[in-house]
Amino acid sequence: MRRKIVEIDESKCTGCGLCASACHEGAIEMVDGKASLVRDDYCDGMGDCLPACPAGAITITERKAADYDEKAVAEHKKKGGGMKKIAFFDTKPYDRESFDRLNGGRYGIRYFETRLTAAVLLAQSDVVSLHCPLLSATNHIINA
Ligand code: SF4
Repeated sequence: MRRKIVEIDESKCTGCGLCASACHEGAIEMVDGKASLVRDDYCDGMGDCLPACPAGAITITERKAADYDEKAVAEHKKKGGGMKKIAFFDTKPYDRESFDRLNGGRYGIRYFETRLTAAVLLAQSDVVSLHCPLLSATNHIINA
């Protein structure tokens, strides 16, 4: 069937990952540093990702595509699909560069350049993963 669906112009995509965060269905993921529509049936064609793109790389097009599948989206999300990834480095700048090199921009991670309060970070997070040495300064860092 023909229907409305997002189209991503890879030549304009800067790999910022904002569209992947904006997509409520988890239909967009970062692949080799570029945004990619992972499955047609995950995209509802509503275009919530369009205003998120600072590069104007996303449009809505009409083409032959699988129907939007709410059940498939629910399954995908249960497995973590569409989960926003936020990273905050409270260390030297080269840590972020090393991390970028290692993950190759695959995860659509949003970085915060300035220090967040724990309250702001926690309010935006469903899952928090801490990567730090166990010292007296880090022990029980988040009431755990
Ligand atoms: S928001 Fe635009 S520039 Fe950023 S990853 Fe998505 S398509 Fe690419």
